[in-house]
Amino acid sequence: MKKLIRNFCIIAHIDHGKSTLADRLLEITDTISQKQIKEQFLDQLDLERERGITIKMQPVRMLWNQNGQEYILNLIDTPGHVDFSYEVSRSLKAVEGAILLVDATQGVQAQTLSNIKLAQEAGLTIIPVINKIDMPSADIKLASEQIQEILKINNQEILHISAKTGEGVKEIIQKIIQDIPAPKSFSEISPALKSKQIKALIFDSLYDSYKGVIAYVRVFEGEITQSQKIRLYRAQKDSEAVEVGYFSPQFQKSSKIGVGEIGYVATNLKTLENIKIGDTITLSPSEKNFSPISGYREPQPMVFASFFPIKGEGINALKISLEKFQLSDSAFQFEPETSYSFGTGFRCSFLGLLHMEIVAERLKREFGQELVVTSPSVSYNVILKNGETKEIQNAENLPDPSQVEEIQEPWAEVEIISPAEYLSQVMQLINLSRGIVTSTENFSEKNLKIKSEIPLSSIAQNFYDDLKNASRGFASMNYKIIGYRRGDLVKLEILINSEIFAGFSKIVTKEEANKIAEKTLKKLKDLIPRQMIQIILQARIGGTIIARETIKAFRKDVTAKLYGGDRTRKDKLLKKQAKGKKKMFGRANIDIPSDVYVKMVKM
Ligand code: GDP
Ligand code: MG
Repeated sequence: MKKLIRNFCIIAHIDHGKSTLADRLLEITDTISQKQIKEQFLDQLDLERERGITIKMQPVRMLWNQNGQEYILNLIDTPGHVDFSYEVSRSLKAVEGAILLVDATQGVQAQTLSNIKLAQEAGLTIIPVINKIDMPSADIKLASEQIQEILKINNQEILHISAKTGEGVKEIIQKIIQDIPAPKSFSEISPALKSKQIKALIFDSLYDSYKGVIAYVRVFEGEITQSQKIRLYRAQKDSEAVEVGYFSPQFQKSSKIGVGEIGYVATNLKTLENIKIGDTITLSPSEKNFSPISGYREPQPMVFASFFPIKGEGINALKISLEKFQLSDSAFQFEPETSYSFGTGFRCSFLGLLHMEIVAERLKREFGQELVVTSPSVSYNVILKNGETKEIQNAENLPDPSQVEEIQEPWAEVEIISPAEYLSQVMQLINLSRGIVTSTENFSEKNLKIKSEIPLSSIAQNFYDDLKNASRGFASMNYKIIGYRRGDLVKLEILINSEIFAGFSKIVTKEEANKIAEKTLKKLKDLIPRQMIQIILQARIGGTIIARETIKAFRKDVTAKLYGGDRTRKDKLLKKQAKGKKKMFGRANIDIPSDVYVKMVKM
């Protein structure tokens, strides 16, 4: 008997219960036993479990029997945080339907809206579900009204469930089978297409030291069998499918994966440069006029920072780790960089601050890479007096002020949904972030929708957490880049005994420059130990010094303890003292302990 397939994902604002609902589905379908299940089972990274957030999408295949018919249900759990919407958009392309989960105690929030939009654009069937109905503070009526209005549907179409107790979860499965269309091959959709050659979309990947690069795929045409010769079409790379299979959710070997299915292909490729998310796997050799599946839009990096190995050596190990890591996080990009202060490292780009934090943490845990992470920056457009435009992400690379006509910075449109009672706090935060409120409207009984425009660099600083604090956790946000605007920006430089302390230059607004300069020098003064000569710390914009601190000289006399006149012993000690100075700065050889750099970055 042919098994029928349904492919779907769960979309929701962060914390509305996606991973918990996935747990219940895994249980009901006996995909994993009650004994095996731990909460948020699909959050398989330790980091996800600790923080209670989903970072990576996770596919899983479930079996279900209904009226004597067997169904394969392929679920992809997705992350909810705004930084990870690229993960969501990729999983949407691999499925036909989406369960839209709304927490009854919160109602529709900012990410709910943006996810609905993504799902609608992808042409998916949406199954609206209100979750957490077991909670006393649930307001089912309100959530229901919001959903009805946004999706233009009526009340009866919305399911009410508790992902925690399992109430109503079976009904979701029935609705999935009833409402979500079975996947169709391209040749079924348009019979005019003669080509029946394999087409599988790579929507994710992973490096496995035994199996090589593993591609996560959705098959759109034909079937991939074990040992088949395959071609990664855009990369023009041939290889062999050494293993194919499903996610149960662990890798489960199979002889083939067929059209409409979601599974994996172990590619036997040990080098990493050929695997690209969004590429199409086909047969080798590929047909003459083969047309690959249209891929994904490139992710748009929002913040940039550099990674340096903490020990200076180990740059090659770091490079290999970054390459492997990138396979499981295609939004992460890096390129080599050399910095005066930190040596060789990598310039990295991220989708947001949380993304950056997660990447650094995963590199530490999964690859044992201890890193110095420089403070995050956005990408600036610098218009030069000679008419040229330069893109820079690092103040060190900013041309001399005399050549600069203007500096433009990226702005974002930020949509915030917040209870009305926190309006003034939210407005104040937008103001402090150099933003402008563009509109405020009623969103629901209690909530307002506040639209604003804010420089991306302010959002990159800590906006998300500040918003949560300003609204006791109730406000939610979503943002997208709207373009570059001229900024009142300057390059702030730090000098130590009149020499530029490169790596600590920063692009700041004129307004904030003084405050930041003073804070930076105070911190440096605390961190740099006294030395044999006096140290003068200065902060400068162009030719003007705007702040100054002094570290007085003193001589640490290591020989004081010695009495008696053994000259050679004294010399030995002095030599040892000289060796202990790890990093010297400038012509005057000022001793800067290496952790100063790390601590300054953490400021
Ligand atoms: P996700 O971010 O959408 O994946 O949300 P999670 O599944 O991680 O759930 C967020 C929190 O809500 C967890 O503490 C869950 O235990 C809790 N939760 C999820 N569903 C329910 C529910 O139906 N009832 C109750 N009371 N709590 C729930
Ligand atoms: Mg989750």
